[in-house]
Amino acid sequence: MKKTFTFLCLLLFGSGVFYSCQDDQVTDSLTVADGVRSQLIALGFDVINHPPINFDQGYLVEGDIYLTPADLATMKEANRLPIMEQYRTTKLVNTSAGVRTITMYAQQGTCTSCYSAGMIAGLDLAIARYNAENLNIRFQRSTTSTGANIVMIRLKKSEETQGILGSAGFPTAAGNPYNQIKMSGVLESKYGLSTAGIATIIGHEMGHCVGFRHTDYYDRAVSCGGAVSNEGASTVGAVLIPGTPSIATAADKSWMLACTDGGDRPFNNDDKTALNYLY
Ligand SMILES: [Zn+2]
Repeated sequence: MKKTFTFLCLLLFGSGVFYSCQDDQVTDSLTVADGVRSQLIALGFDVINHPPINFDQGYLVEGDIYLTPADLATMKEANRLPIMEQYRTTKLVNTSAGVRTITMYAQQGTCTSCYSAGMIAGLDLAIARYNAENLNIRFQRSTTSTGANIVMIRLKKSEETQGILGSAGFPTAAGNPYNQIKMSGVLESKYGLSTAGIATIIGHEMGHCVGFRHTDYYDRAVSCGGAVSNEGASTVGAVLIPGTPSIATAADKSWMLACTDGGDRPFNNDDKTALNYLY
């Protein structure tokens, strides 16, 4: 049996109290095949402190990154080793034609697959935070799913119960943002997160959609606690972003840290540097 270490663990125990979810058992059917695991290691994903699991038709990696078998096949190993900087994948959203508006849709209401007004308020705040940076990507909430670039949909109830907060993928090879965020709908109702806390988690998944990986990928212990997990000299599927700091700390509260305590993490100066460098 593998145990999974979800964002929820830190959400519940937050405030610097790090806790490994000993009770979070998942079935063996969730354990990915050895070959997949090897590929993930080669791409620089942490499979030790956060074992990947089978999820939908693909894999959930480092807690909230959704990859399909096709993604794995096309991800390139990067030619530089990120040590401690903010970092991105080899794929980005194409903005060569100028400022690009990325529309987002989430269904608001009381249906089982809908989001509460509080969740939508979190989405709106996340969008506002990106747009305040005057980047070459701008987000806009759409009132219809038709044509939306990113659709936010509820996780399955069992996944929400299991403690998964959200998941997203990386931009496509064609330079489009990943088109779906699977987000828990109970961040407000069950965990009592503030609008800012919800915005932080949604903004984090949006970050994946436009190509960011976890700031502390090189050592998830920075935000998740537990043992140091630096993969050393392995080849990695991540590209460092110039101008970001040599050391990431939990205190810096980057919005792309791997684990969250559910609190508010607006963009810090290094996050802004990274966003502005890419977009
Ligand atoms: Zn993430």
